[in-house]
Amino acid sequence: MAWEVVIGLECHVQLKTRSKMFCGCPNTFGAEPNTNVCPVCLGLPGALPRANRVAIAHALLLGSALGCRVREESVFARKQYFYPDMPKNYQISQYDRPLCEGGELPIERDGVRAGIALTRIHCEEDAGKSFHPERHGDRRLSRVDFNRAGVPLLELVTEPVLRSPEECAAFLTALRRLVRWLGISDGDMEKGQLRCDANVSLRPTGATTLGTKTELKNLNTIKGVERGVTAEIERQAVLLDGGGRVTQATLLYDADRDRLALMRSKEHAHDYRYFPDPDLPTLRVSRARIDAAAAETPELPWAREARFRDALALPAYDAAVLTESRELSDYFEACAPAGERKLASNWIMTEVLRLVKERGWGIAEWRERVGAERFRDFLARVAARELPGPIAKQVFAWLPEEQGSVPELLERHGVKVVSGLETLRPLVRAVLAEHAAVVAQVRAGEERPFGFLVGQVMKKSGGQAVPQEVQRLLREELASAHPPETGRGS
Ligand SMILES: [Zn+2]
Repeated sequence: MAWEVVIGLECHVQLKTRSKMFCGCPNTFGAEPNTNVCPVCLGLPGALPRANRVAIAHALLLGSALGCRVREESVFARKQYFYPDMPKNYQISQYDRPLCEGGELPIERDGVRAGIALTRIHCEEDAGKSFHPERHGDRRLSRVDFNRAGVPLLELVTEPVLRSPEECAAFLTALRRLVRWLGISDGDMEKGQLRCDANVSLRPTGATTLGTKTELKNLNTIKGVERGVTAEIERQAVLLDGGGRVTQATLLYDADRDRLALMRSKEHAHDYRYFPDPDLPTLRVSRARIDAAAAETPELPWAREARFRDALALPAYDAAVLTESRELSDYFEACAPAGERKLASNWIMTEVLRLVKERGWGIAEWRERVGAERFRDFLARVAARELPGPIAKQVFAWLPEEQGSVPELLERHGVKVVSGLETLRPLVRAVLAEHAAVVAQVRAGEERPFGFLVGQVMKKSGGQAVPQEVQRLLREELASAHPPETGRGS
């Protein structure tokens, strides 16, 4: 039977804040275990939580970027469940009155744009972390680190509108770009700053009711999401094709072995015994604050990508690469001389990104070394053909290593540039004067001797002229009515 795949994602975004969601403990990664803890995040009796203002501001920014409806009064609720890495045995989350509802995240796949509808975004706190340092895979001895307990999270839930593993990967990629763009999270999946669970079900193609779903946990890389969801679709299809039934369950995807394991039979919302947290007041967000968040929202990555493509006439590929991060796209815009945008795009996409990757720099570090004004000047000189190919590459290599303008760099290294049409013209004329016989052959319509003339000019320039320019000048001079002569000024 033909099956239609139905997937909904629940993504957790760890927010970039100085302190945790409900206490003043530092929100940092990689500290000595159990050093960033206090009575509040350890859930000691009598400790009172207080919501982190910056985390709420981050949530409002994301909600505004995604076009969500923001609730002026939302409620923190306790979600009860027992987990060894959760000191309180409940998690502070939001339930029936979340901060944001609706909205959509635009994604693009194979040139087709689609908006992935969202159900909600709510604020919550992260749990701690169990680890097993003594013996790999031996779970008889567990250790717990509560540093992560209480770190602010946003949970973003999509409607069941995704239809393939590739679409899930595109969604996560777009979400990661957005949270980094807004500066609300580093979105580093390796560090668990962006995590995802997937609800997967199949139904006969054309059916309108949903099939029984399973939940896949622990999808911690974009590849892992694609592989895990693919494996689960296959498992369900085999089961259903054989006349079996899917049972609702939570599965754990083991990326190392590319295998799914049953974690537990699925809980239902009523198992969590949600109720409003009596220690926290209703979260009130004024209309003015919601409007301020909307006003603060920068030009969004997909809008900038479209503008680069449509208004700046860049190829779709360039527009996508250059808007991978806000820093990169800002740098590109600051550097690109009007009319030379494709040139700027080529240099940034190939040379700059290559070097930045090689050196392990971020764009910020590159920009510190090569400010936009300096790079724009370099690009303008390349565009004006002042720097022929090999010299441009050489100057490019000096730029991040040394101070100074392009002429200063050239002088410091004793490089004399022979280029620019007007410095080249006398060389072209000299060659034409020296090889009158060859010139006659070319004028008679022979093409082969033309290459010889190009070679002679290149030789005279010490190999520094640009061959295309030499060819152009030669043709120009050959076509002119005056017979070539030496020593004439230009
Ligand atoms: Zn704390």
